Amino acid sequence: MLKGKSALVTGSTSGIGLAIARALAAQGANVTINGFGDKAAIEKERSGIEKEFGVKAVYSPADMTKPDEIAGMVHTAEKTFGSLDVLVNNAGIQFVAPIEEFPVEKWNQIIAINLSAAFHAVRAAVPGMKSRKWGRIISTASAHSLVASPFKVAYVSAKHGIAGLTKTVALEVATFGITCNCISPGYVWTPLVEKQIPDTMKARGMTAEQVKRDVLLAAQPTKEFVTVDEVASLAVYLCSDAAKAITGANLSIDGGWTAE
Ligand code: NAD
Repeated sequence: MLKGKSALVTGSTSGIGLAIARALAAQGANVTINGFGDKAAIEKERSGIEKEFGVKAVYSPADMTKPDEIAGMVHTAEKTFGSLDVLVNNAGIQFVAPIEEFPVEKWNQIIAINLSAAFHAVRAAVPGMKSRKWGRIISTASAHSLVASPFKVAYVSAKHGIAGLTKTVALEVATFGITCNCISPGYVWTPLVEKQIPDTMKARGMTAEQVKRDVLLAAQPTKEFVTVDEVASLAVYLCSDAAKAITGANLSIDGGWTAE
């Protein structure tokens, strides 16, 4: 479905982003992966994608807090593959603390990575997509783009921002064959979720099991974590021609969380 096209997935050395990059490669797209982590592990993922799916895969170490590096990564992807057709804004971090103790630098970092990075990437990618009259822009938002939870002020603010960015960009590019949507997962079992358990234990005075059952899955009526492959399948669908009328949408994949 995506043969001859190129996709860039930010924050794809782990979790949801890696699953999306692999799923797009499985559809024939050449991919740019991005994110932090162990060099050898990243190289293993990169070369694994090439071998498994018969596409080209490159790695960009661009830091999503740095606007110049973000624009540079988009332009390098265009140069390397001749076009950038699918942009997935996925990189994200979390920090959990009551607002009066929330470190200012954590607020700034989360807004930069979880929100501003998408602005910089879309800004750089849209001219090429417009000139080719085809593009798919997808952002990994969150159920927290629709509802809040205590102690996550920066994350919830950034994700609500992604929903607004998505709608605005969708309107601007609607007549150019470009769609812009966000996907809003509930709790997906990834390193990001695992890492917030100790802080939530501290903030709420709970054990790890209590955090999983009474905080994380308490909100999710299915009582099951969403899987990274389920999220990736939705991203693949949004890239298909069948989804060309879906734009400006915020698609929940949250086991019913935001239906309550
Ligand atoms: P993860 O921690 O597994 O992956 C995050 C990725 O972002 C990694 O590749 C990491 O290296 C990268 N990253 C972090 N800071 C970066 C920076 N400054 N520059 C470049 N890359 C950076 O997390 P995940 O759970 O897969 O989360 C991916 C996205 O999905 C995030 O936007 C997150 O908010 C969103 N999300 C996750 C869940 C969940 O339950 N896991 C739910 C809803 C939304």
